Amino acid sequence: MSQSIRSSSLGYPNIGADREWKKTLEAFWSGKISEQNFNEEMEGIRLERLRRQNDSGLGLVPVGDFTYYDRMLDTAAMFGLVPQRFSYEGGPVSLELYFSMARGNAGATACEMTKWFNTNYHYIVPELNGAKPSLTANLPLQAYVEAREKLGIQGKPVLIGPLTFLKLSKGYNAASETDAWLDRLIPLYGQVLAELQAAGAQWVQLDEPSIAGDLGADDWQRLQRIYTELAAAAPELKLIVQTYFDAPDNYAALVSLPVAGIGLDFVHDRGRNLQAVLGQGFPAGLTLAAGVLDGRGIWRADPDAALALVRELAAVVPADRLLLQPSCSLLHVPVSLAGEGALGAALQGALAGADEKLAELALLAEAAGLSAAELSAGAGRGAAAAAGFAAGRQALAALNALPQREAAAVRAKARLLGSSRASRASGFAERRQLQQQRWQLPFLPTTTIGSFPQTAEIRSARARWRKGSLDNAAYETFIRDQINDWISLQEEIGLDVLVHGEFERTDMVEFFGEKLAGFAFTANGWVQSYGSRCVKPPVIYGDVDFVEPMTVKETVYAQSLTDKPVKGMLTGPLTILNWSFVRDDLPRSEVALQIALALRKEVEELEKSGIGMIQVDEPALREGLPLKKSRWPEELKAAVDAFRLATTGVADTTQIHTHMCYCEFSDIIDTIRDLDADVISIETSRSHGELIHSFEENIYEKGIGLGVYDIHSPRVPSVEEMVAMIERSLRSLDPELFWINPDCGLKTRGKEETAASLNHMVAAAREVRANR
Ligand code: GLN
Ligand code: ZN
Repeated sequence: MSQSIRSSSLGYPNIGADREWKKTLEAFWSGKISEQNFNEEMEGIRLERLRRQNDSGLGLVPVGDFTYYDRMLDTAAMFGLVPQRFSYEGGPVSLELYFSMARGNAGATACEMTKWFNTNYHYIVPELNGAKPSLTANLPLQAYVEAREKLGIQGKPVLIGPLTFLKLSKGYNAASETDAWLDRLIPLYGQVLAELQAAGAQWVQLDEPSIAGDLGADDWQRLQRIYTELAAAAPELKLIVQTYFDAPDNYAALVSLPVAGIGLDFVHDRGRNLQAVLGQGFPAGLTLAAGVLDGRGIWRADPDAALALVRELAAVVPADRLLLQPSCSLLHVPVSLAGEGALGAALQGALAGADEKLAELALLAEAAGLSAAELSAGAGRGAAAAAGFAAGRQALAALNALPQREAAAVRAKARLLGSSRASRASGFAERRQLQQQRWQLPFLPTTTIGSFPQTAEIRSARARWRKGSLDNAAYETFIRDQINDWISLQEEIGLDVLVHGEFERTDMVEFFGEKLAGFAFTANGWVQSYGSRCVKPPVIYGDVDFVEPMTVKETVYAQSLTDKPVKGMLTGPLTILNWSFVRDDLPRSEVALQIALALRKEVEELEKSGIGMIQVDEPALREGLPLKKSRWPEELKAAVDAFRLATTGVADTTQIHTHMCYCEFSDIIDTIRDLDADVISIETSRSHGELIHSFEENIYEKGIGLGVYDIHSPRVPSVEEMVAMIERSLRSLDPELFWINPDCGLKTRGKEETAASLNHMVAAAREVRANR
């Protein structure tokens, strides 16, 4: 009866099963391999990825998503959109120029990098300023031809669509110049597509995740124009306009675009895409590329739920017009989690990396081609699928049977405390007075953000300790010695509020995850963060619970060495949540409250041990915010609830600090205020004054430190520069509430430059104090 349904995928991780991509890039950058060598290695990695996808039985294998750094950068380079500072004179973009745009060179700073929608992947922001676009190379065509000639794969080229490309670019006036830019870009896109058509390509995917964000009426008109013109440029190609990460607001407009297929995400759409398809129908003749498996989470799907979704879609869309796929590119998950046996069979069996997801997809496509009777018979045509389904069910049952999965007491307490927003005993004005009496801090107090240089010596000691060649006692002594050195140094420099230096931490989330219940760590679960940089996010699989004090020992030790206050240093609930892979059977907000509850306990422990200033870092507070601004208030409210649950259990005299790295601040200033931290420190230098400007328009009436120097560079800033920065900030902020600190933690810096910069910073503070 039923005919089998095809599968397709949107993209695959670049990094390789063993991070060989990263290693190759870094070897090339450091001059260890030649360009020819590099190209050969990369070709091998690129083809291997295609082979793996093809071998999984995938119907449409994406090609052209592979990159040497980032796809937005590839697209900019393909269209010759190179910023003027790189002295580009047209023609093909060399590898050297490409990497200079990504990483900077001696004469020019790198292009800006920012988050890809609500993921932890960062893309390079194209700069259009006056550039004259031209087609420098047809990258999708090269990828298509290579896959066909070398592997016999009829791939599906993927491109970033024009609307999303423009929305994510800068250096033009989006309100008045978007259409002029479309005039320039559409013909180039048209040429790319026409050449693909001539070469024999069939399906082409144009990624337009911006469609699932906030689009105005003018953008919907633009989409109509873009895709009408592109379809005319390559009438034989089957174009898929691919959305993900949420549902479009105007479903009717989307499915009326004159293209062959529309891609919708049925996992991260809050049910709205399914509702639209079932309620409004799906145009005859159009193909639905249906994202039915979570492309960005690491959990195995519930096969029955996925199949039920497919059956609902198949009732509206004929099987030959349905493509089953992950909800988004698999870029956001590890290549494979099949080798994580050390996690135990129950947990490991419930994980799915890219390869496992493709296997699930193949199984789903096969099952969708069977009748319910054939599948449940478990014999004949349905035998293999039935076995696959049984294995999937069993894996999830084993996960759910783990005792860590549900800690009843934690769950109840987090729900209870989370049901109303926690508050400090007194308001800020009162606390401020009590804290000032307690601490007697000078005008414009100086401090740092937490970490001090993680030198080679420190990294090697930790590595030896992890391997067991350095015992606990020796490692502890080693850490204490570091704390000793840096407490003395901070006193010498003359800082007012000291920190212990975070020498015991490799990573600000991993450190806490390892000490809390409910977390697991993979051995090889790497994902690309930006460029060659990969991260290995912890996995939150159980209820999160406090086990024992996590930071008390080092903090109290540091405090014992000085009369100055030492600030305790914790990572906030949202940052821990946003930088982990999170279980998907509980709302994220509930997991955030569980983490917050555990941190509240830690805050209590620190306070009990005499630590009177505690910083709870939230550099990732705004990460993971939905694509649509209308959904922000709800998410931000949950973030504030969690932060406040973690931080409000203290006496009025205890000073709560927080820190955020970014500078896009003005649109969440109310949230920042609601956090009700006594002091916040924020990165300033990369905002080129925009941040300070936002305070000229918004008053901020709690303690605040705008970073007075950039920690991303080894350069030691002069006293005068910092004085100017401070004076400028004081024009828009209450001087009585102003703190002096660097932009962020100093762990990536060298020891000498750090001491020199902090000496200058304290000198600058003293100079400004003296002039007042
Ligand atoms: N306390 C942390 C540090 O100094 C903060 C890091 C961050 O904001 N990313 O390293
Ligand atoms: Zn920071």
